[in-house]
Amino acid sequence: MHEDIREILVSREQIEKRVKEMALQISVDYKGKCVFFIGVLKGCFLFLSDLAKNAAVDTNVDFMMLSSYSGTASTGVVRTMLDLKQSIEGKHVIIVEDIVDSGLTMNYMMKNLRTRNPESIEVCTLLNKPSCRKVEVPIKYCGFEIPDKFVVGYGLDYNELYRNLPYIGVLKPSAIRLEEKNECK
Ligand code: 5GP
Repeated sequence: MHEDIREILVSREQIEKRVKEMALQISVDYKGKCVFFIGVLKGCFLFLSDLAKNAAVDTNVDFMMLSSYSGTASTGVVRTMLDLKQSIEGKHVIIVEDIVDSGLTMNYMMKNLRTRNPESIEVCTLLNKPSCRKVEVPIKYCGFEIPDKFVVGYGLDYNELYRNLPYIGVLKPSAIRLEEKNECK
């Protein structure tokens, strides 16, 4: 375990098993259709990769980058930093997100994408923190419900660190204290 991690909430094995289950469910639900995965960068990068690899359907992949977080606190203001390169009109869209917390990011994203006339749109998130919700989000596919703790790993960062950890873990308080700790050691 990484020295900055206090506790592992979801192990590598649990993630691998659950992502395969989710991919299977998507394959069943979208049999004969083409799924347009929209990954929310950067946190989705490992999850989307594993999900897409295990999904037995035709897929199209594109990305958006939104921003509402700085360090461990949400600013509550969502901005589009990077938009899709392709049209989603008439497509079966699945938004792939690392974690739904307040729901503000996903709410913004769904409103935005609905104006582009997809055939259908669903949300697939690896993690869900229901106790933090500020706006309701219809989540079709959810990997794990977790408590209100700031987590890192499997795509999720703290100031751009820890994304490569193969598990979901909680940081030690000592790892959170310095804002300037955003460089790799
Ligand atoms: P929301 O808008 O639902 O509050 O937050 C969504 C985004 O906030 C996620 O895509 C993720 O980037 C970030 N976020 C929320 N909770 C956590 C957390 O516990 N750890 C990390 N690393 N990011 C989080």
